[in-house]
Amino acid sequence: MSKELNFKQELTACFGKPVAENPTQAMVEAAYRHHNLHWRYLTIEVDPADLGDAVRGARAMGFRGFNCTIPHKVAVIQHLDGLGESASLMGAVNCVVRRGDKLIGENTDGLGFVQSLRTLTDPKGKRVLMLGAGGAARAIGVELALAGASQITLVNRSAERGQTLAALLRDKAKIACELVVGTADAKIPEGTDVVINATSIGLYPDVNARLPLDTTGLKPGMVVADVIPNPPTTRLVREARDKGCKVIDGLGMLVNQGVIGIKHWSGIDPDPTVMRKALEDVFGV
Ligand code: NDP
Repeated sequence: MSKELNFKQELTACFGKPVAENPTQAMVEAAYRHHNLHWRYLTIEVDPADLGDAVRGARAMGFRGFNCTIPHKVAVIQHLDGLGESASLMGAVNCVVRRGDKLIGENTDGLGFVQSLRTLTDPKGKRVLMLGAGGAARAIGVELALAGASQITLVNRSAERGQTLAALLRDKAKIACELVVGTADAKIPEGTDVVINATSIGLYPDVNARLPLDTTGLKPGMVVADVIPNPPTTRLVREARDKGCKVIDGLGMLVNQGVIGIKHWSGIDPDPTVMRKALEDVFGV
């Protein structure tokens, strides 16, 4: 008795920091299994000094693509053959895709966020309050502008990063943007439709850290989103639910950026429920 065996596996990867159990790997490989793809997603620690060699290795070994996480999201660009529209506007890449013999950098973070936002509301014409001006905020701000949001009030602790992002949003992404700098509790402007935490406040292990936000302004029906994936139920998520807001947790963004990445690599539109379930298993929710 013999049966046909396939020893070849398509490879994709995450070049980033080592973690005990990589939730993204669990999520992506759950989708590969569900869709009968004989593929692997590897988590590979890459020292910044070795990034060029790692990308050349991925090229030589025929990887279909890879994700990049901190600290490689900007540095990887010099090793690629081109950028998609969002990655080019943001100046950061979190997903690399092989197209023919070229490696093209995409940014799926912001699009993943907007895709999860669309399950609750259309961003077009919406007024947004966003805390944070780092990489996640930049990705979300640019995609919200591309999706037709009307205005973003940006709140950030440091003036420098706040001003850089506000200028990018106004000048390149062409959206009205007001900047509030400091650590005082931010007031939610009248007429705000969507409130977003795009800071790292609340990320494990500082799960009880408080956001500089006056939450008395949260109203029933308002959409509140938190990018923090671990833990998925942050202080903000809990408080917003208690106040009757419509809530998106950080797993929504993580699942959707994974959905977009798998589609880029394989052409398959993966089932997000299988991917979310894999993440929930990792996080024990
Ligand atoms: P960055 O380090 O680039 O930015 C962090 C931001 O948080 C900055 O605006 C920083 O302000 C602010 N911040 C941090 N600590 C404080 C504090 N104590 N008080 C006030 N502001 C603070 O990180 P990223 O933007 O890359 O990531 C932010 C979060 O988004 C992370 O927790 C990450 O896990 C999450 N993320 C989630 C994704 C998902 O799929 N769910 C995808 C990508 C990121 P300042 O400029 O003053 O330093």
